[in-house]
Amino acid sequence: PSTKLCPPSKDEIGSSTWTLLHSMAAWYPESPTSEERRLMSDYMQALARFYPCTWCASDFRKNVESNPPRTDNRRDLCMWLCDQHNIVNSKLGKPLFDCTLENLDERWRKSNRSSCN
Ligand code: FAD
Repeated sequence: PSTKLCPPSKDEIGSSTWTLLHSMAAWYPESPTSEERRLMSDYMQALARFYPCTWCASDFRKNVESNPPRTDNRRDLCMWLCDQHNIVNSKLGKPLFDCTLENLDERWRKSNRSSCN
């Protein structure tokens, strides 16, 4: 029984989702095409609709409506997403992340992982 795999908890889904989203933003093009911009915007809208925690999705949807994804370039998308994550952090009483591109790249993009676990 100890090997039984359980469905993910809300927090597991949350941290996995943020990992994917921040990594995607970190590697988003510096100069996206109009198609790439549309796809990223649609992706965020779909996430806000289908995120598998109904009350989280409902708040995220309102935030995305009032502050739509900034898809002009990599920097703007990274900053927008960092702000979105901080909105949730502040709702949950978690520490806020200092949203500079340098901090975000250090956490999510740097390809040299030799100093990390
Ligand atoms: P997480 O918040 O998952 O963060 C993972 C890592 O991201 C951190 O260790 C840190 O290194 C880094 N990080 C933290 N803040 C930032 C930032 N601003 N920018 C970049 N990197 C950062 N949970 C709820 O209980 N209620 C909700 O309404 C809710 N809404 C959510 C909405 C969305 C769209 C998502 C993706 C998740 C939501 N969650 C919600 C889950 C919640 O945000 C956390 O994922 C969960 O509580 C687990 O937290 P954690 O401590 O593992 O760190």
